[in-house]
Formats: sequence, structure tokens, C-alpha cells
Amino acid sequence: MASPTEPVAGMNVDQAELQKFAELAHKWWDKNSEFKPLHEINPLRLNYIDQYASLAGKEVLDVGCGGGILSESMSERGAKVTGIDLGEKALKVAQLHRYESGADVDYRLISVEDLASERPESFDVVTCMEMLEHVPDPAAVVRACARLVRPGGQVFFSTLNRNPKSYLFAVLGAEYVLKLLPKGTHEYEKFIKPSELASWARQSGLDVQGSKGMTYNPLSKRYSLNDDVSVNYLLRTVKS
Ligand code: SAH
Repeated sequence: MASPTEPVAGMNVDQAELQKFAELAHKWWDKNSEFKPLHEINPLRLNYIDQYASLAGKEVLDVGCGGGILSESMSERGAKVTGIDLGEKALKVAQLHRYESGADVDYRLISVEDLASERPESFDVVTCMEMLEHVPDPAAVVRACARLVRPGGQVFFSTLNRNPKSYLFAVLGAEYVLKLLPKGTHEYEKFIKPSELASWARQSGLDVQGSKGMTYNPLSKRYSLNDDVSVNYLLRTVKS
């Protein structure tokens, strides 16, 4: 067996990362839990995606969907959503939550690379939110997302920038000072600069159309969408 911190042979996954999310899985839909930040940024990212992709009627893939916070909300906007993740517990929670919410999302335990071989160019929109900073080879995930989207379709990514400010806010601030997240949730070395993500996107045949920052104001305790990409950010791309 691979040690918990190593990727499983042939698979772009870090078991220790999956384990972190497995331990919290039962709290996924608790808006006051460790997942509070995801619940709070969700309307911002959902509106951003919907503004550019007009979700109603679109076939959408949500990569690294976790408990389904974004997947369900895109389905509520009228998209036909498939959510994939390699975290079994998170997917079980996502599947169960459909009974409570009535959301119609198809959840599957499959890697993005395998789905790209199975169903290339099948989706109008692909979203991959807060997941790239948890995988051993994020560029490979970007390539797989690019394969999965139809020509002319859009791929949206979000992740954490890598600089002293993001270390201060996303690691020290969120995990140690404000205690929004458990210690060890994020590993600074895995954070991704927008220029790095943009270059992986371009190498995969995705044109970068724009970016937005999601910033947290510790005084108002609110997130907002703006042009400050120094910590959390979204990148919008289209397949040429
Ligand atoms: N995208 C969701 C969840 C983000 S949390 C949201 O923003 O609301 C990160 C998720 O990535 C977890 O559900 C975790 O299980 C998943 N993940 C981590 N490594 C993965 C991998 N290699 N393949 C698929 N999912 C992965």
C-alpha cells in the first residue's frame, strides 16, 4: 500500500488529502462547520459561472464536487450536472443530500482523467473549484478538464494563489487565528499562482478569458468578488 502522503500508483490523488475531507464529510452541509467558507463563497462563484455560462439547460461537470455544494446550486439554476470526486464519504453525503434538497445531480466516484478517456468533449461547462491545490499533479487535472469540455465550452477553476499574503490569510489567518478551517487543511507549497494556472490552461488548449478574486473581510466576516486575486481566485477559460 502507498503511504498516506504519496499518490496512489498511476492515479493523480493524494490519500492524505482525501483523508482530511473524509474525516469532515459528515459536516459538509453544516453551514457553521469547517465547510462554512465554501457555503459563503458559493453564491459568488455560482453567479460568476452563471453570468458567463448561462447554466440553464447546459450539461455541466463539477470536478472534485465534494458534498455537492456547487453541484446542487448549479442544478437549481437548471443545469444537468454530473459531480465527480475520489472521496467516497463526500460522495455518499452528496448522494444522500439529494433526498433532502430534491436536487437532480448525477454523482460518480471516478477520476477526472478516467472520465476524460470515457467521455471526451461531452460537457458544455466544466467547473473545478478548490480542488487543484489538493492534488499531486494539478496540470494533469487541467488537461483532463480541457478534454472533457466541448469546443467552445467553458472551464472554470478556483484555487489559492501562492505568495506571502495568501500564506498569511489562507494558512495562518484561516487555520490559526480565525480558526475557520482545521490546521493542515491547506499546504502552502501546493498553492498555485494565476500565471501557472493560466499557462497549464493554455498548454491544454484553453484560452484564458478572465479572472476574479474572492476576498474575505475579517471585520464584516463577508466574502466578496473583486479584482484582488492575491488569495482565493477564479479563472475563466474557453476551449478554442
Ligand atoms: N469543489 C467543492 C469541494 C472542494 S473541497 C467545492 O468547492 O465546494 C476539495 C475536494 O477535492 C474534496 O471533496 C476532495 O475529496 C476532492 N479531491 C481531492 N483530491 C482529489 C482527486 N485527486 N480527485 C478528485 N477529487 C479530489
